[in-house]
Amino acid sequence: MRILVVAAHPDDEVLGCGATMARLALEKNEVYVAIMGEGITSRHEAREDADTAQLRLLHRNAQAAATKIGARDLVLYKLPDNRLDTIPLLDIVKLVENLAKKVKPEIIYTHHPGDLNMDHGIVHRAVLTATRPMLGQCVREIYAFEVPSSTEWSFQSLGPPFRPNVFVDVTRTLETKIAAMACYGTEGREFPHPRSAEALRAIATRWGSVAGCQAAEAFELVRSVRPETNPK
Ligand SMILES: [Zn+2]
Repeated sequence: MRILVVAAHPDDEVLGCGATMARLALEKNEVYVAIMGEGITSRHEAREDADTAQLRLLHRNAQAAATKIGARDLVLYKLPDNRLDTIPLLDIVKLVENLAKKVKPEIIYTHHPGDLNMDHGIVHRAVLTATRPMLGQCVREIYAFEVPSSTEWSFQSLGPPFRPNVFVDVTRTLETKIAAMACYGTEGREFPHPRSAEALRAIATRWGSVAGCQAAEAFELVRSVRPETNPK
């Protein structure tokens, strides 16, 4: 199977579905990762003020994390961080559309629309638009992941609440996710921050307890289309 993960910022892909990606890769599936935004430039008054060396390091970290996870390929689009609303949605849709044409994924994992971070909602919308279920659409399933420190920090007041109904047992690959997050040295946080290793383990344990396993990642099914196996 070919799986595509579409994230807004470097590290969202690991936070959202790092352990699931690692498991899928271990099970001999092809995992592709696309990160739409460049990351961190929103921390400066003007995008141009950002330290380009720091940005290059972040992108190298993203590559290291993707390698750790076992992803086949990583595409960095480097759109302006936390400023995706300054770009026509259509332009973002076209990027996703072209990538989906190339990769031909059967499954896509992407952001939940109700997150605190606005870029996440835009990426969700772009993915849904780019993969409309018309005749010949290869994408059969789309899942929304949670991003700790963004999904829960909207407090269900900015969009639909995250309602996970699909759980992936990641008992064997949770530590690969933690190691992939460690590749993002600069983005790591101390406990009790939701992105800390302790919190990520706690979240996985909590979803594991919901799903009857030691550790799980939780997803909300956005769309599932089951094609005929032997179309006439
Ligand atoms: Zn993000």
